[in-house]
Amino acid sequence: MHILNKIYQQLLSHYGPQHWWPGETQFEVTIGAILAQNVSWTNAAKAIENLKKHNLLQPQKLSGKKAEEIAPLIKSSGYYNQKADAIAAFLRWFERYDYSFELLQKVPTERLREELLALPRIGHETADSILLYTLERRIFVVDAYTKRIFTRIGLLTGKEKYNDVQHMFHAHFAGTTRDYNEFHALIVKHGKDVCAKKPRCGRCCIIRWCVGNALTPIL
Ligand code: SF4
Repeated sequence: MHILNKIYQQLLSHYGPQHWWPGETQFEVTIGAILAQNVSWTNAAKAIENLKKHNLLQPQKLSGKKAEEIAPLIKSSGYYNQKADAIAAFLRWFERYDYSFELLQKVPTERLREELLALPRIGHETADSILLYTLERRIFVVDAYTKRIFTRIGLLTGKEKYNDVQHMFHAHFAGTTRDYNEFHALIVKHGKDVCAKKPRCGRCCIIRWCVGNALTPIL
């Protein structure tokens, strides 16, 4: 069994299921994935609540707003002008599918990924978060926590590009879509609480697999 599978099992038994991604509808999950770029979930959630308060968390309603009108409503999520542009671009694209997640479900993952990545201000992490968490495609979401933890563990050099890191997970992590969902959430949890910028290796549940742990003296 590849070490990635062992690490996943250990993180899951240590932290338990993380119940990601928060959101009552597929549209809410999608907008949440865009708003959560580079900010804490708490700030993204405030923007979601504000859109809900204005009764705009439905694609047909939100698409009636220009990016300049969306921006002030999502201020708490940071980078709000760029995120408003991203939301407006997503909605223009989604209109081609009649704002229907059912229609999106009929499109192959690779094609959807290409189309999402062609949109302005939608990067790999956001596109893959939409594919995994909204559309339940078996695809691994890579973020800064993933790169940091697995570089310290010794499975990455730290120089790999997004698709290289994703390929490693696709090649060696044998989980279901549900496990892909959970693994990413657990990585975020571990990266925030333990393998932070300053790692707390004394509290780490996966230290046995980590060559870069701060408790092993360098000879
Ligand atoms: S042992 Fe330390 S460096 Fe390695 S994964 Fe755990 S917290 Fe991170």
